[in-house]
This record gives sequence, structure tokens and C-alpha cells, in this order.
Amino acid sequence: MDVIELELRNAMSEPGCPVCRLVERFERTEIETILYEHPNDPEVRREFRGSGGLCTYHAWKVLHLALSNPLLGPHGVSVIYEDVLRSYLSGKVGEDECFLCRLSREKERTLIESIADRLPELLDAYAESPSILCRRHYEEILKLVEDENLKTRLEEVQKEKLRELDARLVRLIESFDYRSEEKPSEDEKRAVIEAVEFLVGREVGPHSRRRERREKRWPLRLR
Ligand SMILES: [Zn+2]
Ligand SMILES: [Zn+2]
Repeated sequence: MDVIELELRNAMSEPGCPVCRLVERFERTEIETILYEHPNDPEVRREFRGSGGLCTYHAWKVLHLALSNPLLGPHGVSVIYEDVLRSYLSGKVGEDECFLCRLSREKERTLIESIADRLPELLDAYAESPSILCRRHYEEILKLVEDENLKTRLEEVQKEKLRELDARLVRLIESFDYRSEEKPSEDEKRAVIEAVEFLVGREVGPHSRRRERREKRWPLRLR
């Protein structure tokens, strides 16, 4: 078993989409590394300036991570955004794609291809795991699987997981009935979160996919 397979198996051991989870972890690590080690790195600064301070989603994620982690704090992020602000004041408006969008899209692509490649080894583990690939990641993996038998098995596994999730959600709804004497189990309480996660994925990855590129909506120029 290689490192990637191990990483995938670990991500499958928890509820929710393993691809989304790994992209989320990747983004967090990238941001923390930048804030810990590279706020003055010319390359990092160029990337931030180039995109006018990142897309809205990633900029707030950077800020939130910086301000919520006492080990990071406001220093690194202030240094970075002072540089972007000064660049704006000197008349330069970055319109490049946000580099965290770019990096997370690449990471996502690698993960999807890795799962498709290793599906013969991973499918049983996936079937038995509590994880459920979100709709988009599931469909992208399915597109890459060429073996028809394997494809059919993945489809069956996914359908079974979704039927089980639906049944849990129904039980959760029933538990809200005032005549119900049963309290919902932890698995049932999580069902609505898992249903949303399946349908729309976690809030990670390339931002441009979800909303219009915000940077395009910033036609501010200093006159
Ligand atoms: Zn996903
Ligand atoms: Zn972004």
C-alpha cells in the first residue's frame, strides 16, 4: 500500500466525502505554512498581489485561520495584505486567478485520479466505511473508471450508501414527532449534515466553480 492509498483509506474512515476532506486539509496546511513561514516570501507576495488578495472565499479563510489561531495571530496576514493594499494604491489591480483556487483544483484532480486508479483495492474499504463521496466527486471518479464491472460495483455501493443515509434522515425526522419516544442516535443527528455534504460537497476547493469569479466583479481602478 502506498502513501496515497493510506491517505485515502484514512480519509474514508470518517463520515463525509473523503476527497472534500483531503482538499480541506490541504488548504488549511497550505495557508498555515504561508502564514507561519512565508509572509515575506516574494513569491507568496506576488501571488497575493496577482489576484488582488485572493478570491473572496480564500481571503476570508486565510484571515479566519490567522485570527483564530493564537500561534499565527494577525502579524503575517497583516504583512501580506499591507503589501496587496500598497500595490493597489500604486495603481496595480491583480486580476489573476487566486492561487489557492489553482492549487486546490490541482490537489482535487490528483485525488480523483488516485481513487479511480486504485479503485480495485479501495472499493471494499469504501463500501464498509462510513464515508460517502459527494455527488460531484463521485461523478468525476466514475467518469475515469473504464472497467465496466468496477463501474457497476461503484454505482451499487454508492446507491446503497445513499439509501442508508436517506433511511437515517427519515428516522431523524420521525424522532422530532412529539409522539416519538426515541431520541435520535448520533448517526441520525449527523444525517442532515451528511445529506448536504453529499449534495453540494464541503465548502472547499476552487472557489470559481461555485460562484462567479469575484475578482472579475472588482473593476476598481484608481483614476
Ligand atoms: Zn467531495
Ligand atoms: Zn480561491
